[in-house]
Amino acid sequence: MGEAYKLDCDSCVFTKNIFVGFGFSYMSLESIASFVQDTVLKRRIGEFIGNPSTRNDAYDALYVCPVCQAIRNELFIEMISDSSQYKISYACPRCASVMEQEHIENNVPAHLSCPACEKGKLKATFYMDWD
Ligand SMILES: [Zn+2]
Ligand SMILES: [Zn+2]
Repeated sequence: MGEAYKLDCDSCVFTKNIFVGFGFSYMSLESIASFVQDTVLKRRIGEFIGNPSTRNDAYDALYVCPVCQAIRNELFIEMISDSSQYKISYACPRCASVMEQEHIENNVPAHLSCPACEKGKLKATFYMDWD
């Protein structure tokens, strides 16, 4: 089950809804491959599906740029087989730095700086479960 949060800045009007966690459609690599848009990732998933030793982990995650604080809400996916491994990474849309995954919890200060005003802090508020 995934969770949806609303991020709000404590000093400007920035707000963003994000989805984190494990959805029903992430149960199998076949189903992930069916909604992934990126053709390179789709092909990589296909290679791992063909290998019976593959183990995988996939969920929606919050990514934050360590340099400019930009935020992306993206699919985390990691696949490991006897012969190869793959872990997704995302580049910052503003400065191209490698983004880091952040975990958030309801009403716990996220220690995230606001990507809009840069001086405010973001607070996460849980608003629904999804699957
Ligand atoms: Zn950045
Ligand atoms: Zn702000």
